[in-house]
Amino acid sequence: MNMQKKRYVLKFPSQSGDKPLSYHLVKDFDIRINILKAEVRPGKTGSLVLELEATSSNLKKGIAYLEENHVSCEPLNKKITWDHVRCIHCGNCTAVCFAGALEMDHQKWELQFDSEKCIVCELCVPACPLNLFEIDFRQ
Ligand code: SF4
Ligand code: SF4
Repeated sequence: MNMQKKRYVLKFPSQSGDKPLSYHLVKDFDIRINILKAEVRPGKTGSLVLELEATSSNLKKGIAYLEENHVSCEPLNKKITWDHVRCIHCGNCTAVCFAGALEMDHQKWELQFDSEKCIVCELCVPACPLNLFEIDFRQ
């Protein structure tokens, strides 16, 4: 079976918090969910960055199901690039990367960037004194 893994930014109204949306994605559409970032405040609009893994047909059905339930789903079509050649490994950017994508290797005193963990929150962009991070818009 041809499985696909895609990242989405979901925005949902406060009242949808009562519905077991993720339960239905798993049970009805056989979608594996990895929550990369969650901002859910009681009584307010929430947002999630999710990685969904399923067959392309089930992914489409799952997204349609979410949209029927007033949850907007935008594919995460951005990525962060890092100019490692010019990096001075000062470690400044690691302080803002709550996703754990930027970490110092304290043995080599070198910055490590794990793009798989990056949720494109963009906080590292202004944190680097040398402007070594850029947002790459892919479509
Ligand atoms: S955008 Fe930057 S700060 Fe945010 S998760 Fe990715 S590497 Fe970390
Ligand atoms: S803030 Fe910039 S120079 Fe410093 S470690 Fe991060 S990427 Fe390298």
